[in-house]
Amino acid sequence: MIKQELLDDVAAEIIEKKVCSELAEGATQLVIGDGNSDADIVFIGEAPGKQEDEQGKPFVGASGKFLNEMLAAANLNRDDVYITNIVKYRPPNNRDPSPEEKREFWPYLMRQLEIIQPKVIITLGRHSGAVFIPDLHISRDHGRARKVKYHDNEFLVIPLYHPAAALYNGSMRQVLIDDFLAAAELANLQK
Ligand code: URA
Repeated sequence: MIKQELLDDVAAEIIEKKVCSELAEGATQLVIGDGNSDADIVFIGEAPGKQEDEQGKPFVGASGKFLNEMLAAANLNRDDVYITNIVKYRPPNNRDPSPEEKREFWPYLMRQLEIIQPKVIITLGRHSGAVFIPDLHISRDHGRARKVKYHDNEFLVIPLYHPAAALYNGSMRQVLIDDFLAAAELANLQK
């Protein structure tokens, strides 16, 4: 089976098993992920916002525009990478995803990563960083690559600031751009 079909199966299973059914009821649709199923880099955000919920794709609002700009600066576009979130339904009023919601979606995120087998995982924001790196302090650890073991898998995870946090803060914005370019370069260097 090709990778995209396996990813489609993950989405179908989330719906069939009624994962986070309360969130699902308040959301327009599942936002499973978007991009290249064979990507070297997977970006993981927190949860879909309003526009993502409406369009069924992650990072299509203001944060997504900034993400696209950083991809372009690294000579990449959205078809080169895969983009997803830990939680795959929009939380009401864009509240933070709860620990239980992150736990419920974790096995499905793992399945996505096992299928794609990226060289590098770039987490966006402290929620997605902390699911891989429990002692994460984003102001200390942003941009630092860490090897993370989970069952039979070893992932290279680079935690970055969330684009929404950096969007309107000039100094954080530059830190995120610098971290982003360094992370893309590191992904390039992996065998
Ligand atoms: N913020 C996220 O964390 N994910 C999205 O898909 C959009 C905004």
